[in-house]
Amino acid sequence: MRWTRTLVTTLRDDPQEAEIASHKLMVRAGLIRKLSGGLYTFMPLGLRALQKVAQIVREEMNRAGAQEILMPALQPAELWERSGRLAAMGPGMFKLRDRAERLMALGPTHEEVVTELLGGEVSSYRQLPCTVYQIQTKFRDEIRPRFGLMRAKEFIMKDAYSFDTSLEAADASYQAMYDAYTRIFKRCGLDARAVEADTGDIGGKWSHEFMVLADSGEDGVIDCPVCGYAANQERAERKVAEANETCGAVEEIATPNVRTIDDLVAFFACPAERFIKTLVYVADGKPVVALVPGDRDLNEHKFKRLLGAKKLELADDATVQQVTGAPVGFAGPVGLAVPVYADQSLKGAAGRITGANKADTHITNVDLTRDATVAAYEDLVIVGGGDMCPRCGKPLQVKRGIEVGHVFKLGTKYTEAFDAAYLNAEGQRELMVMGCYGIGVTRTLQAVIEQCHDADGIAWPVTVAPFAVTLLLLDPKDAAVCEVVDTLERELQAQGIDVFTDDREERPGVKFKDADLIGCPIRVVVGAKGLAKGGVEIKLRTSKDVAIVPVADAAADIVARIRAMRQD
Ligand code: ATP
Ligand code: MG
Repeated sequence: MRWTRTLVTTLRDDPQEAEIASHKLMVRAGLIRKLSGGLYTFMPLGLRALQKVAQIVREEMNRAGAQEILMPALQPAELWERSGRLAAMGPGMFKLRDRAERLMALGPTHEEVVTELLGGEVSSYRQLPCTVYQIQTKFRDEIRPRFGLMRAKEFIMKDAYSFDTSLEAADASYQAMYDAYTRIFKRCGLDARAVEADTGDIGGKWSHEFMVLADSGEDGVIDCPVCGYAANQERAERKVAEANETCGAVEEIATPNVRTIDDLVAFFACPAERFIKTLVYVADGKPVVALVPGDRDLNEHKFKRLLGAKKLELADDATVQQVTGAPVGFAGPVGLAVPVYADQSLKGAAGRITGANKADTHITNVDLTRDATVAAYEDLVIVGGGDMCPRCGKPLQVKRGIEVGHVFKLGTKYTEAFDAAYLNAEGQRELMVMGCYGIGVTRTLQAVIEQCHDADGIAWPVTVAPFAVTLLLLDPKDAAVCEVVDTLERELQAQGIDVFTDDREERPGVKFKDADLIGCPIRVVVGAKGLAKGGVEIKLRTSKDVAIVPVADAAADIVARIRAMRQD
């Protein structure tokens, strides 16, 4: 492909709205253009790279035995009512009406559609297991679309769904997808790792996320450097020692306007961990209370899971007043009539300070076991760096990650809602057991750039680079130079190697800069001066070394280098 016949415009300056390196580089290298917030056009170079990622995904899905299908992006909202997710998705789902006023949705995911589909297609155990997948555009009205393709309103996902006769059979399907994901990310040149994850709105029993570690990642990843335990911070657990404390009788202390933990630390002159934070929530319409040490934050995902609640929200001031009989800032666990759950680390806690459920008052010498009624002690806090690993007890680390893929065991949540059953060998009806598996194809592409770049631009892995080779034609008016370029292009193309030739009338300096920015793995320079010195220049994007190779050997040299890269 020739630059002068391709829609590529590189930019010298970073786009204003871009915060992270990969977003800046995708725009600067002319891979994408913004239409509006969270909506992007793929330009020719960007589309080529995207198609390479999609092809790797497709090959590995096929290799794992999944069958490609393509479902409509436009879905009747009625399906979402049947699964009970219409309300749960809320404004995150794009909704519209057809001319008959029927409520429709632009698919944010496809569990409903695929379960309805397979429920109709599968009648016998002989048709199972069955895994289907598609590579398709998804729509989500994200609260904060940002970071370019990372969190977009419209993006491309590979979503796969497995259907099995039993939980054990479903485990095998899950494992096959897990292994395929490991291969996909490796082939894309990514350093990704699987971590335990929360199941969120998709529901289901168990899940792993594939995380690309990067400082710009939106997710916290908890990692044990000793035993390898790894989990999304939303899910991560920790080991705690029980407190086993004792103390004297409860005492009331006047604390006018001392409401926050910071205020309390200053007022009582003791560390935050000695306080018990009392948080009033509303779970599916009913008030509940969570207790955590003053220096910790409640993990709402864990609390929601513990309660088995569909909806969990922090209570408003009026509800707090109603539950505690005091204004916000003076809540405590003693004497409450609503269910109280405490973090595990508070088991046996005594001599603590907490609100008195009375305006401008706190109580000291609180012994939780003696003075309060706690329904359960569970792991409820957000795990952080330095907490103890739940498996081996060694200190945990926190890292940042980009979630590129997610695999779920769904059980029968959806097959029950859609009555998707098959007849077993005995002729009895049984519900199919499902799994679902997503890869953000567009997000994966950008994650590659986030991990593979330097100060000069992108440094593509050969497997997903828009072109393996960028050929700089330094003297486009020199017939001998053009002749060498034409021949080299032809020889490489004959070997199936994509070449991007910069044939613009530009200064060499500009071409070198753009070649680094666009970042194809191999740069070949053909110019009159070089030819006079004995050949063409060949350089890898990731190395400073420049080789001068005679024209006759150039194609073979390049092919050998690409082979070596593909084997890495
Ligand atoms: P996140 O927590 O990042 O919002 P999610 O849990 O909503 O992701 P899933 O519903 O599991 O994501 O979707 C599967 C995959 O689709 C994710 O692993 C991610 O790679 C990708 N993805 C999800 N939302 C977006 C988005 N708004 N833009 C781009 N890719 C996305
Ligand atoms: Mg999301």
